[in-house]
Amino acid sequence: MNDNRLLIISYRLPFSFKTENRVTSVKQSAGGLVTAVKSLDLPASAPKPVWVGCADFSPRVWEKYKHLVNDDFEYVPVFLDKTTNKGFYNGFSNSVLWPLFHYFPSYVDYHDEDLNAYQAANQAVCDKVVELLQPDDLIWVHDYHFLPLPMLIRQNKPSATIGFFLHIPFPSYEILRLLPEKCRNYLLNGLLGANLVGFHTTDYRVHFLRSAQLSLGLAHRLGTIENGQTKVQTGAFPIGINYNLFHDAAADQAVVQERLDLKRSYPDKLIFSVDRLDYTKGVMQRLDALEALLRQHSEWLGKLVFILVVVPSRDQIQTYGERKQMIEQAVGRINGLFGTLTWLPIVYRYSDVTFSQLVALYTACDIALITPVRDGMNLVAKEFVASRQDQQGVLILSELTGAANELGEALLVNPLDEYEVADQLLYALAMSPDEQRQRMITMQERVASYDVKQWATDFIDALLTTQQDEQASR
Ligand code: UDP
Repeated sequence: MNDNRLLIISYRLPFSFKTENRVTSVKQSAGGLVTAVKSLDLPASAPKPVWVGCADFSPRVWEKYKHLVNDDFEYVPVFLDKTTNKGFYNGFSNSVLWPLFHYFPSYVDYHDEDLNAYQAANQAVCDKVVELLQPDDLIWVHDYHFLPLPMLIRQNKPSATIGFFLHIPFPSYEILRLLPEKCRNYLLNGLLGANLVGFHTTDYRVHFLRSAQLSLGLAHRLGTIENGQTKVQTGAFPIGINYNLFHDAAADQAVVQERLDLKRSYPDKLIFSVDRLDYTKGVMQRLDALEALLRQHSEWLGKLVFILVVVPSRDQIQTYGERKQMIEQAVGRINGLFGTLTWLPIVYRYSDVTFSQLVALYTACDIALITPVRDGMNLVAKEFVASRQDQQGVLILSELTGAANELGEALLVNPLDEYEVADQLLYALAMSPDEQRQRMITMQERVASYDVKQWATDFIDALLTTQQDEQASR
């Protein structure tokens, strides 16, 4: 990293305001991106990085309380009106791009006015970035909310250095082509305003390159597309986690206590999963697999418990509310079918959990059952691996996650095949401590060596190289 200023753009800013008993305070969020950016070794001489995002508070609240948000970043909120934000976020981003890019075309709910709101929001963010931009700044745009943004910025600032990272899968061309041609080309052209476009896996990268070729007739050479004046490089950068944070937390006093409580409450085999409420996470299929296991292997009745944590998410979108009902009905049905007066197979919690509770669950369970039907990466799988100081525990992981590329020692399953998942559960329940240790050690080495800091550093280094190449060729 040199002295360039970094401009981060993401939908959310990494904090929110909370008012309780008329006292307003600021709550910092601890998501992967915040950790990544904060872990970058920015030279002391580098200017304060800037973070641009959409505000979930009013301009009045910002003016009054911005002094509370005083840290290593300068934050620049973009204020969207309610209708634009709804069409942009709930509409086009989460009811078109999210389902389509996760291979759920039948969940796509496309409306022209949502696309208009998406365009308006991208334009508003672009205007703000252009206003802030200084020569040599590195712009790092994040995720599917801002696919058109690189090109919008490029049109205003032809020599800007722009990186884009997609945190969700990039689907195969056969899926992308379901979008109207005009819309599809607009999104692809948007990305082609960047100097560097990053994906979690080589597969997603190849899908993007192929889509650019088939939709726009733009061939690539070794992953680089010549788009007029700009050379667009692409790369695979699988996001990592803060390994030490999760590894060390396993020994924290609070975590040890929570773990003891869990072990005392559930002395038999403990299976665990945690996901946001989302149809991509495969919770229904996971419950089918558990049911198949209990039906076929009654010897496990009364001897295992599955703790299912579902974290509320996007509850203003209809498909999410419906999913919650489906899950709760299935949990009730399975508990009713197999439970007794003294034992229930599923403990269900619809809530977020604290960091200590999360690590206690990771470290108390015998099996982490992580079976999304599609997931760009899946950080929970990596966090589970990192937290197991005891080198025990079995990871059952869907092969349809980005993380499966790096975690080959997990028991990889097709989440749609309930009998395969049930078989692997059975195998995991009986796995020897030695085999658990061997698998865990290898996964830990890999997750530790490519952590979130390495991810962010690699991306920024690659972006800097594109800047140096561009400057040399001018
Ligand atoms: N997580 C959280 N609150 C919770 C439970 C989990 O913030 O109550 C975190 C978890 O530690 C992980 C992230 O949410 O870092 C989920 O990331 P993942 O990639 O697994 O799925 P996503 O929600 O991004 O689709």
